[in-house]
Amino acid sequence: MSYDNNNIFAKILRDEIPCNRIYEDEFILSFHDINPQKKIHALVITKGKYINLDDFSAKASSEEMVGLLKGIGIVAKKLGISTEVGKGYRALANISDHGGQEVPHLHFHLFGGEKVGKMVE
Ligand code: AMP
Repeated sequence: MSYDNNNIFAKILRDEIPCNRIYEDEFILSFHDINPQKKIHALVITKGKYINLDDFSAKASSEEMVGLLKGIGIVAKKLGISTEVGKGYRALANISDHGGQEVPHLHFHLFGGEKVGKMVE
């Protein structure tokens, strides 16, 4: 499977579609999910064109890997849900078919602002 340049997050990265932006740097863009499942539901997507976490772990540079993890921490703090400033959250990545991934561009969901609940339904 190759990366689909027309997926919705690729269009957001190219500013062809608007998003409710939270944070952006060299490695990631973060915005609020359009269909929030919890009080706070943010997405953190990579600037690089990776289909999912498997693709990322196989091909991304060490700098991109550090950038993604650091970015998640920065966004959580900005949203007031990190352990430093809040009560914690869940970070989740769906991977491909069995993982229930809908958008084929690597993204982490950050859920918080309330108890997130059971890990898997
Ligand atoms: P996944 O099932 O892990 O691929 O999640 C895709 C997520 O993207 C879902 O939670 C959608 O609600 C969200 N989503 C789809 N389109 C947009 C958009 N234009 N802006 C923000 N979130 C979106």
